[in-house]
Amino acid sequence: MSYEENEFGVNICCSDNTVYTGDLLVGADGAYSRIRQTMQRQLEKKGLLRRPIEKQQQIPNYVCMLGVAQPGNPERYQCLKDPFVNFSSVMGGNGLGWNVINIPDDKICWSLWIQLDVSSLSQEVLLQDDEWTSKNNDKMISVFRRMPCPYGGTMGELIDATPPDLISKVFLEEQLFETWHHGRTVLIGDSCHTMLPGAGQGATNAMQDAVILANCLVELKDLKLNTIRFALEDFQEQRYRHARRQYLYSKMVSKLMSGQRIYEDTATYRPQVCFLPPTENRGSGYVLPQNNRQYSEDEAKAQVATLWGHSDEKTDIIDGDDETEVVIGGGALAHFADDS
Ligand SMILES: Cc1cc2nc3c(=O)[nH]c(=O)nc-3n(C[C@H](O)[C@H](O)[C@H](O)COP(=O)(O)OP(=O)(O)OC[C@H]3O[C@@H](n4cnc5c(N)ncnc54)[C@H](O)[C@@H]3O)c2cc1C
Repeated sequence: MSYEENEFGVNICCSDNTVYTGDLLVGADGAYSRIRQTMQRQLEKKGLLRRPIEKQQQIPNYVCMLGVAQPGNPERYQCLKDPFVNFSSVMGGNGLGWNVINIPDDKICWSLWIQLDVSSLSQEVLLQDDEWTSKNNDKMISVFRRMPCPYGGTMGELIDATPPDLISKVFLEEQLFETWHHGRTVLIGDSCHTMLPGAGQGATNAMQDAVILANCLVELKDLKLNTIRFALEDFQEQRYRHARRQYLYSKMVSKLMSGQRIYEDTATYRPQVCFLPPTENRGSGYVLPQNNRQYSEDEAKAQVATLWGHSDEKTDIIDGDDETEVVIGGGALAHFADDS
């Protein structure tokens, strides 16, 4: 599939060589959108792309297995008698999570999530490794087999009650693109914002895009390029901030639902001044490396002396009954002695 556009319209050429002509092209072709890729190449050629294409690659953050179980004995699961849907989610820790949902006809949908540690695995490794392809479901199933099922029993029992052709495995990805339209072409849904499914927002936002796009197009005065361009600008202006909020919310909920590693953007960033002795990491969490070279003790002393000068004057601070000796003139070297 390819397309090209000009002042007057868009021509879309499909892989079977059929050609369609229109006034506007709406790219609603999902996370791997060909329309988006073509649009980005055109923007890049014109120097209009905000970020280079190679930096816009999606990185899979999760692998997810889904299935629809058909338990032979529905009596086994009390929830199947309920006239409503139960959604139960288990936050397993260590990057694992699993969900179950009862649906009509005595069936139970289940999903298993593994949060990938993308900081330690390159995308190539993730994608090439057979262990994450559908060829090798057993390995992933074995991780969850003994886990408790919120409806009773183990997840293994539910998985065994699932026909193999109703099991699939997908990488879950997320990406929020900054450019949603160019000329007579516009992107909606996953093609411009792929959200992690934890918060159930992806399809919702795709439909909201369609609604707002329709609102922006319904009162077009004419089909001139400039008129369409203004309408598409209005569309992105109205939708981007809402989609971004839901994208971030989906990221947080998905993390909570599987690995609970929600702090990597905040708690892992702990910059320290390079001319003082580094503080020991007392927790188990990962700390982002720093760019600056860490000073040796002698260098640190020299640096501090340069900054604050040498002064070994001593003063006494009276704090209640305790007397604390402070060495002034060398912040890093200051020490406190408790006389009590
Ligand atoms: C495991 C999982 C669970 C999810 N759960 C939820 C949920 O509970 N709630 C929710 O709101 N969202 C959920 N989502 C997200 C939701 O599925 C997507 O956000 C939604 O489907 C996006 O819709 P879309 O129309 O933009 O893209 P898609 O649904 O991907 O549709 C794109 C269509 O374009 C077609 N297409 C692609 N390329 C071409 C081409 N070159 N030529 C012709 N046709 C093409 C595809 O075949 C497809 O039919 C979940 C996603 C996953 C993976």
